[in-house]
Amino acid sequence: MPNPTHIQGVSIASLADEFGTPLYIYDGEKITAQVKTLQAAFAAVPLKIKYATKALSNINILKVIRKAGAGVDAVSIEEVRLCMMAGYTPSEIMYTPSGVSFDEIQEAVGMGIMINLDSLPLMEQFGQTYGGSIPACIRINPHIMAGGNIKISTGHSESKFGISIEQLPLILEAVAKYKLQIVGLHIHTGSDILDAEVFLRGGNVLFEAAMQFSNLKFLDFGGGFKVAYKPNDVSTDVIEVGRKVGEAFQEFCKKYGRQLELWLEPGKFLVSEAGYLLVKANVVKQSPTAAFVGVDTGLNHLIRPMMYDAYHSLYNLSNPEGKKVKYNVVGYICETDTIASHRELDEVKIGDLLVIKNAGAYGYSMASNYNSRLRPPEVLIWDGKPQLIRKREDFEDLIRNQQILEF
Ligand SMILES: *Cc1c(COP(=O)(O)O)cnc(C)c1O
Repeated sequence: MPNPTHIQGVSIASLADEFGTPLYIYDGEKITAQVKTLQAAFAAVPLKIKYATKALSNINILKVIRKAGAGVDAVSIEEVRLCMMAGYTPSEIMYTPSGVSFDEIQEAVGMGIMINLDSLPLMEQFGQTYGGSIPACIRINPHIMAGGNIKISTGHSESKFGISIEQLPLILEAVAKYKLQIVGLHIHTGSDILDAEVFLRGGNVLFEAAMQFSNLKFLDFGGGFKVAYKPNDVSTDVIEVGRKVGEAFQEFCKKYGRQLELWLEPGKFLVSEAGYLLVKANVVKQSPTAAFVGVDTGLNHLIRPMMYDAYHSLYNLSNPEGKKVKYNVVGYICETDTIASHRELDEVKIGDLLVIKNAGAYGYSMASNYNSRLRPPEVLIWDGKPQLIRKREDFEDLIRNQQILEF
């Protein structure tokens, strides 16, 4: 993909003039296109997409995704509320909590939201409280090691997520004891999964377990589709996954005796490539061993490079034809804060605008005020127009909840 200077005809440089830097920019068309791609890839099955809200949870982004025809998966009661504010009906929201208090479960049930049961004790508590009156889903840990990085692998045997597939007899015991109405089974094995085979292996675990449940309406394969982060990088071939998983799923449904829905929970796939973090070079400095570009952002705004060793492509918007120089691009946070190492860029001068790509997923949603820095604004390009969807924070925001004692 060439490095864009415009998004839907809007000049990225003009956005820096209008909104300042650092700035998160999202391409609404790209998000819609990703939803459509997934829908087309799974056209052979009754598909429901449940966007993983945590990837990027601005209410306007949730609205874009709803408009494209997808539902949502939420992992906190606050995300559930954001989804409701974006116009999702309770039936379009699935709540997949990880070890939350039962109060929160009850609050979600009270709102009419389906719960994805994540542990045996929760199944017990749920059964004692509701018996079989409330339909629910069960999150199974399929014991599959998958994903780009141990920190984003969630379906292996030592992961905290879900109920081990080896405990299926105990799951069935709890279901029978409380006559639980289990309408769905769920797995989510991790993030950055490239291979259709991983989804198929997960599918086989689901198919086998599903034969023990008579009231299912759907099987949920989770998210984790990989997107391209580097030039020439590969992304999950969703057409191939759709074809292979779709086929296996239809075969299973025949055996099961009923047509079920296939659910997916993509986060990254829908929003990663639609997002750009636009930043400015504050410093360019040469040390005996390396050249550094210091920018007006850091791990407080985009933590993925430091947290997951993630690779983010970036480019110099201000000097696209410059001489190539290798830089370490570093953030302004006072600890090691490397955004890109030994990266060849068009020569950077102080004040140049740099664009960090793939900033849509797990960018703003993981941003913090570390170093008492303010979070950037978010702009959505929609219908060829830039729309401010979150203001830049100011100092007032930073101290809003502090109680200043008199002494
Ligand atoms: C995070 C998460 C996802 C999305 O993962 P991606 O790698 O962003 O696709 C899906 N389902 C659940 C339950 C999650 O926690």
